[in-house]
Amino acid sequence: MHILHGALIKMPRMIKRVLRSLLSRPATVRYPFVKPEPARGTRGGISFNMDRCDLCQDCERVCPSSSIKIYQDSGRIEYQPFRCIYCHICVRTCMQRAITPSEMVRGPAYEKSVDVYEVHR
Ligand code: SF4
Ligand code: SF4
Repeated sequence: MHILHGALIKMPRMIKRVLRSLLSRPATVRYPFVKPEPARGTRGGISFNMDRCDLCQDCERVCPSSSIKIYQDSGRIEYQPFRCIYCHICVRTCMQRAITPSEMVRGPAYEKSVDVYEVHR
């Protein structure tokens, strides 16, 4: 009896909250049909500026997930976004400021693609 009395007292407040939720915008988005904007400062994927890169291999050496391969002879960089853990250690390490960080992360995919960058000769 005591419990029922407590529930009846709370009922108007509950109904008010339910109605407010029904009439307000949803708190979530319909992913994957709608992609949410990343929060400001999110660490995402990287890209390489080959006009600045001197192929020193520092980024390859510090990458904890071995996501970067530098081929000095052919002037080529391979970046594996599906291995990358978005730590941005490479960004902080690159003396040439040749690595541009982004706030976007790769969505799920069937194929683990590799990004290829080549020095303009
Ligand atoms: S991106 Fe930066 S750290 Fe990596 S090879 Fe090029 S210059 Fe060196
Ligand atoms: S962000 Fe981290 S894991 Fe990704 S390539 Fe750079 S060092 Fe490697």
